[in-house]
Amino acid sequence: MIRSFLSLLFVFLFVVSVKAQYRKEIQIPDIPGYVTLKCDFHIHTVFSDGSVWPTIRVREAWEQGLDAIAITDHIEYRPHADDMKKDLNRSYEIAKPLADQSGIILIRGTEITRKMPPGHLNAIFITDANKIEVDDWFEACKEAKNQGAFIFWNHPGWKAQQPEKTLWWEEHTRLHDAGLMNGIEAYNSDEYYPEALQWSREKSLTILANSDIHDPIGYNYNPAVTHRPVTLVFAAERSVDAIKKALENRQTAIYFEDKLVGEQKFLEPIFKASAKIVSAPVSLENKKTKYVMVHNSSDVDFVLKSTQNSVGYGYKKEVTLKANRTTLIDVSGKSDEVKNQSVLKLEYEVTNLIIAPEECMKVVIEVANK
Ligand SMILES: [Zn+2]
Ligand SMILES: [Zn+2]
Repeated sequence: MIRSFLSLLFVFLFVVSVKAQYRKEIQIPDIPGYVTLKCDFHIHTVFSDGSVWPTIRVREAWEQGLDAIAITDHIEYRPHADDMKKDLNRSYEIAKPLADQSGIILIRGTEITRKMPPGHLNAIFITDANKIEVDDWFEACKEAKNQGAFIFWNHPGWKAQQPEKTLWWEEHTRLHDAGLMNGIEAYNSDEYYPEALQWSREKSLTILANSDIHDPIGYNYNPAVTHRPVTLVFAAERSVDAIKKALENRQTAIYFEDKLVGEQKFLEPIFKASAKIVSAPVSLENKKTKYVMVHNSSDVDFVLKSTQNSVGYGYKKEVTLKANRTTLIDVSGKSDEVKNQSVLKLEYEVTNLIIAPEECMKVVIEVANK
């Protein structure tokens, strides 16, 4: 009896352990007027030089809390060609049913793969990758655009193509002038390109951060330690059309390593929706110390450094608001003036929220003092 119970238990546990899969949401809040969608628009499969089947990409995206992905197999580089039927749309078609079933928005894409210049470009929201296989790279981009593509320059500072310096070439001006370059990867795989951030501002390009993953995602980004690079898209709703519109309107920020990079108009509401004072007003007096509790409900640690000397009170100069934790910040009265101040302002810069090259975002944490 015990034996059969144990074997039943074993069968049950086995079934459960095989079936159980978990999705870990990425905790970065929506901002007023928009949902914050977590996306990776640069992914490979066995249909080009990747090592996994398209449906696995969907499973990885689901487990890692993404809303949308684009599979972007190379048109011109397919080392498994002898083993695969030649159809540049297949990776999308194979992944689509599982994507629909699991609520992952799958965007049809491809990588136009040329030497520098112009290097590699991703075209997403296309309708037929086969038609983009043409000799002339400019014509390839034109065909993608005719299909409705949003086109971005991949890994502009990739050392294999730009070993000395990350340069903008004439060919990029040509593409840009013709409306055939709409965005740029400021982060790819594990590389950050500050030049791309600068160009995105000067030339009105949308910034993106993508994994460009070839192997199983966990090989490169162990979820216990880190996360894959993510493009945050601020969209009116969770749909393909809304993502496209948001990309065209430059409504993105990027999340990689421990950093968020993007315009202040996006990062500020993210910070405000994430970091909230959860303690009572302090009633601070001279020579007394009180604690302010700040809860950070996001997955991003906010690394704060004070920027201002306050009058009548002092506060912690360096503090990290840990992700999904509540942090104590001590505030001390330095003179009797503190009693007359109804609000104590803790002024910081957030060193890992980057709003321009060499510039991080400033915040003020306002503490009620009654
Ligand atoms: Zn590439
Ligand atoms: Zn690639």
